[in-house]
Amino acid sequence: MRIFDPHIHMTSRTTDDYRAMYDAGVRAVVEPAFWLGQPRTTVGSFCDYFDAILGWEPFRAAQYGIAHHATIGLNPKEANDARCREVLEVLPRYLAKDRVVAVGELGYDSMTPEEDEVFSAQLAMAVEHELPALVHTPHRDKLNGTKRTLDVVRESGLPMGSVLVDHLNEVTVGVVAEAGAWMGFSVYPDTKMDEQRMVAILKEFGLERMLVNSAADWGNSDPLKTRKTADAMLAAGFSDDDVDRVLWRNPVEFYSQSGRLELADDLAAGETYLGNSVLRGGKD
Ligand SMILES: [Zn+2]
Repeated sequence: MRIFDPHIHMTSRTTDDYRAMYDAGVRAVVEPAFWLGQPRTTVGSFCDYFDAILGWEPFRAAQYGIAHHATIGLNPKEANDARCREVLEVLPRYLAKDRVVAVGELGYDSMTPEEDEVFSAQLAMAVEHELPALVHTPHRDKLNGTKRTLDVVRESGLPMGSVLVDHLNEVTVGVVAEAGAWMGFSVYPDTKMDEQRMVAILKEFGLERMLVNSAADWGNSDPLKTRKTADAMLAAGFSDDDVDRVLWRNPVEFYSQSGRLELADDLAAGETYLGNSVLRGGKD
């Protein structure tokens, strides 16, 4: 089984995590730029962080056999801090870099006017740089926040096919499916989605444009939730090919729109990989 985690914050994780992920079949990850918990007070802190997830972290991941890419953006939470606004000026320089496969994470946290402004400005950058966008949905007032997110995307002119709306659940998946955007689900140990609810959503809404991630970070999270969801899909009667579609081909298709995804040839080959026990993750 080959797994692509399309949203994980490896900068917060250990080398043990990298080893366990490899053993479970994870061969590629995307690390979105996000909020580090401790507020950043200057644009220089962002630049050092962006450089770390574009330089140091791919180097670290490669030592454990995992391909690492990133998305770059000013996250919704820090969009509210005037000291961080200058980040928008350095973003174009980063969006031109090789391993950047989307603008993100963007979107709403508390749905303030400042967040509106920063969200729209970065969607315009996605249009200009011809990059897809990774859009986070708010944890409170989720349905209204998701609808408003989709409205702002429509106004931006970025095609829905270039947008991944993340952290969805049973309440929000319908409007995103209808809009034609890609749908991301974060499977967490005790909040957001769990494996069984994820399987139920896949049964109801199908596999098209569906992505599953662990969103593992510095909080209570589990970098093996992608594999655990794959196992739950198999137990529920989905085929190996279904699992490969959701956990590998869908994220590859979404982020390939950047033209910058670099994966090992044996993994990119697709069909030939399925059922090849030599290349399978250690747990099966
Ligand atoms: Zn995240």
